[in-house]
Amino acid sequence: MSLEKRVAIVTGAGSPRGIGRTIALTLAKQGADVVVCDLDRTGAERVAEEIRALKRNAIAVQVDVTKQQDVTELVRAALDRFGRIDILVNNAGITQPIKVADMTEQDFDRIVAVNLKGTFLCSKAVLAPMTRQGYGRIVNMSSVSAKRGGGVFGGAHYSAAKAGILGFAKALAREVAACGITVNSVAPGLIATDIRGGLESPERQKEMSREIPVQRLGTPEEVAATVAFLASEEAAYITGEDIDINGGSHMD
Ligand code: NAD
Repeated sequence: MSLEKRVAIVTGAGSPRGIGRTIALTLAKQGADVVVCDLDRTGAERVAEEIRALKRNAIAVQVDVTKQQDVTELVRAALDRFGRIDILVNNAGITQPIKVADMTEQDFDRIVAVNLKGTFLCSKAVLAPMTRQGYGRIVNMSSVSAKRGGGVFGGAHYSAAKAGILGFAKALAREVAACGITVNSVAPGLIATDIRGGLESPERQKEMSREIPVQRLGTPEEVAATVAFLASEEAAYITGEDIDINGGSHMD
């Protein structure tokens, strides 16, 4: 599978051990030029530099995916630099392991804004260029939380936002299928990144692994490989789909 001549935007790609960074690098290794965006400007710059070291083009853009203005500027920056947008990976996300009884309205709004509204704003913003091109690939980051409920994966607001992404993706997939745009999601289980703020000790990770049929946490590379496939030309007949990447921790 080649992503040669393709231009990708990956949100939340500035985290040093994150899934977004690995997705950005994987797409670049397959030939894509990448717009690396994150709230964290320095992190995004660092990943863009890693991509340039692979002899691919990359720019870093500081973006808060919950802000319309930021997202408009992100798409403008991508088009100014590369002239097209073929792939959008809605990866930016935050979680918060908290029970509903302890959750404030602000907690709920924040989690839904970053995970779900951010996916809406970024997806909407790339529709015009993708429609003009007659080609596009949108891949969203859901979570096993969407299907099995919270627990260590985050609170009910996180589950709701990640489940909302699945419904949003299916509805959008129907709207844009005839324009050559596919919209799919991946639903990772426990992946070894910093999203839970290093809350788990190695002992706790071992304990959690015992509950996963594959007996270990997943890696960002394992998520990125599926995202790269969904972002490829070869996945043209897959749309409105979600793929579980969870070591068997939830099967449906
Ligand atoms: P991470 O914390 O390492 O990376 C998330 C990135 O998103 C960070 O760089 C952060 O700065 C960025 N971000 C946060 N808010 C943002 C905003 N408003 N605008 C732009 N960028 C923002 O986490 P990760 O584990 O790599 O998570 C990546 C995605 O995968 C998230 O959507 C997460 O919900 C999802 N996910 C992770 C796991 C897991 O176990 N790690 C499991 C299922 C789903």
